[in-house]
Amino acid sequence: MKYLEKSFKVPSNGVFGGPKKVSLREMTTREEKILLGTRDFSVFERLVKSCCVDEDIEFDKLSNADIMYLTFMLRELTYGPEYIQEVTCPHCGRTQEVTININEMEPKVLTNEEAKKLADGVTVTLSNNDKITVNMLSAGDAARIDRVIKSKTKQNRLKDPQSYEMMLRLATSVNNIETEEPTDIDLTETENKIAYIEQLRMRDLALIQNALNEFDFGLNRNIYRECENCGDDMEVVGYIVPEFFHPSK
Ligand SMILES: [Zn+2]
Repeated sequence: MKYLEKSFKVPSNGVFGGPKKVSLREMTTREEKILLGTRDFSVFERLVKSCCVDEDIEFDKLSNADIMYLTFMLRELTYGPEYIQEVTCPHCGRTQEVTININEMEPKVLTNEEAKKLADGVTVTLSNNDKITVNMLSAGDAARIDRVIKSKTKQNRLKDPQSYEMMLRLATSVNNIETEEPTDIDLTETENKIAYIEQLRMRDLALIQNALNEFDFGLNRNIYRECENCGDDMEVVGYIVPEFFHPSK
């Protein structure tokens, strides 16, 4: 059988040491079996992996934004760009079916210069003059965090899994802490990093959380449609609804 194939630029453009280009083939019955499995983010990674033409792609070195982008490209390659989604107009409240078109969504790929900057990390100076270097989480980092949370939850070791997950994500993205006052604490240890972050001023926390804001990449899934009832413009985000993988027409 000859399948459709296409190459795509990877939005993270090699920031995590991963590929800058990926070739995918259209989905087949093999992928239908993946779709029948667990319904969390890992399904999309398994789908894209399964449709990857090159076999040596390291998915840990991509970003979840890349995987989301490639999932939408895979959908287009398999069924075309259009699918139906239900939307509620924010102006008049009417719920209606709109046709989403993946081709109207804007992909944003990091430039080589942005990728280099992001790979080095962004250093911010806090109000106490400590210097913090922040890096973006790769898909591999995100998956590792998920595994830690799942295993600690199973062993009943987390009082509040959600807040621990937030702290673990922050601590993982904080790559280096250079304190102005000398310290004996090993701030490369995750638990020490978490303790350090926990005592920060809220505005310093915001600095860290916003450090990577200028590096926006992936597929911008916002498109515009006119409301069938009031005629106003609606901003619609394209989601992965049942019609996405199993179109009824
Ligand atoms: Zn309306």
